Amino acid sequence: MINPAVALPALLSQPLKMLIDGKWLASQNGACMDVINPSNGQVLVQESLGGAYEVDLAVQAARRAFEFGPWSRMRPSERSRMLLKLADELEQNGDELALLETLNTGKPLKLARAFDIGMAAECLRYNAGWATKLNGETRNVSLPGDWHAYTLREPVGVVGLIVPWNVPLAMAVSKIAPALAAGCTVVLKPAELTPLTALRLGELIQACGLPPGVVNIVTGLGHEAGQAIVDHPGVDKISFTGSTLVGKLILGSAAGNLKRVALELGGKSPVFIFADADLDRAIDAAARGIFGNTGQVCAAGSRLFVHRTVADRVIDGIVQRARQLRVAPGLSPDSEIGPVISARQRERVMGYINSGRAEGAEVAAGGQVVEGEGFFVQPTVLVNTHPRMKVVREEIFGPVLSTQLFDGDSLEELATRGNATDYGLSASIWTRDLRLAHQLVRRLRAGNVRVNAAMALDFAMPFGGYKQSGWGRENGREGVEAYTELKSVAIDLN
Ligand code: NAD
Repeated sequence: MINPAVALPALLSQPLKMLIDGKWLASQNGACMDVINPSNGQVLVQESLGGAYEVDLAVQAARRAFEFGPWSRMRPSERSRMLLKLADELEQNGDELALLETLNTGKPLKLARAFDIGMAAECLRYNAGWATKLNGETRNVSLPGDWHAYTLREPVGVVGLIVPWNVPLAMAVSKIAPALAAGCTVVLKPAELTPLTALRLGELIQACGLPPGVVNIVTGLGHEAGQAIVDHPGVDKISFTGSTLVGKLILGSAAGNLKRVALELGGKSPVFIFADADLDRAIDAAARGIFGNTGQVCAAGSRLFVHRTVADRVIDGIVQRARQLRVAPGLSPDSEIGPVISARQRERVMGYINSGRAEGAEVAAGGQVVEGEGFFVQPTVLVNTHPRMKVVREEIFGPVLSTQLFDGDSLEELATRGNATDYGLSASIWTRDLRLAHQLVRRLRAGNVRVNAAMALDFAMPFGGYKQSGWGRENGREGVEAYTELKSVAIDLN
């Protein structure tokens, strides 16, 4: 239920349209679908379902804005200023954006306001700084005679940005910000389940005065609108965040015009807790790491490896937290854990929990849906799991932790157990022995490793996966350079 004291955002007062070439359009064939509030299953509004036609309009608009419009030729400081202005707009409208995010995802309002909206504004500011710092360099060549040789860093062109539903606004901005900083123009497709904040962002982009066609937003289904973006010959690069399954499909389709492809995909990340760790902090972080955002986090620590001598204390601690966490609609003031995103996702998560049971795992906490309206699942801890179980091998993307013990394993063996997954996104290590931590860090096949830290998300730090967790990195210099091409220029001065 929406708290009657909270005014409904104006965005929800009429069916949603798409932002194409600076205009708001419904889909040409009238196709639309309901946007659902996962806290109660009720319809919030209807969104337009774009397809190949709308994607083509959007790509053409982005192409015009790139080739002839002011964006790619605008002075870098001007682009930077626009991104900073957009960050301010986001913050000024932060309460409304957080409310939209909470209505659409069910996540606690406080979390949406502090984390999702805060991160999005921060991301814009970080990348705004890069707009003026993307440089080529002179090269000291050994060709005979006199040469002036240098590189130019140029925007890659029109980019298609496809994002998932777990952190909708922050994901959209994490791609839009570096793309715009680099001088690209974009076609964004939000996840069909969560279009609200992306569309409100579109309004704010217009309010900031970004030229038409620089940012286009096409809502729609993955296999229609998403596929049309991936197939379109006018798109120079795809940046995709989502499942490994769809990432592989995208790779195949992008072959058509050899688009550049960046992929941020799934994870099944290990958490190692050694006997000498600060156990209170480790327990707290492990619980937050798997139950936060209802486990719908690509880097969630979903496989716990704990030393046998402290296993009882650690697992009991996490079980206690799982039981105490307030599972409630995001608009409830005391909500700590919201619903999963959809009825389908709830079934999927329950399917995994039940497969764990069937394969011999024991449910130490949770393990059930929360009866009543909305798509709630109890925070769940599974013990007696082993590496062959489906719950241990596959990404669940829900609040489900599997636990395994270690004792007497060499560092090599422990790393092998941690690496025994197709994924390689993230890992965390809890120990006071920094020598051991460094040694394990080097043996883990993961793009992001934390030591004694619950979270370490910073836009200066590249983020991305080894193995089937993806291609490329977001954030940092690498993240913005990923939206550029490098041109080598050699001038014969002889
Ligand atoms: P998904 O792959 O089903 O969908 C992601 C996006 O791709 C959506 O916008 C969807 O409409 C679109 N899509 C679906 N099929 C498509 C197709 N054939 N062509 C083009 N686009 C298509 O993923 P999801 O269920 O929305 O999100 C959950 C997944 O995302 C998890 O696997 C999670 O690990 C991953 N994820 C990864 C990161 C990361 O940074 N590595 C971050 C968040 C989520």
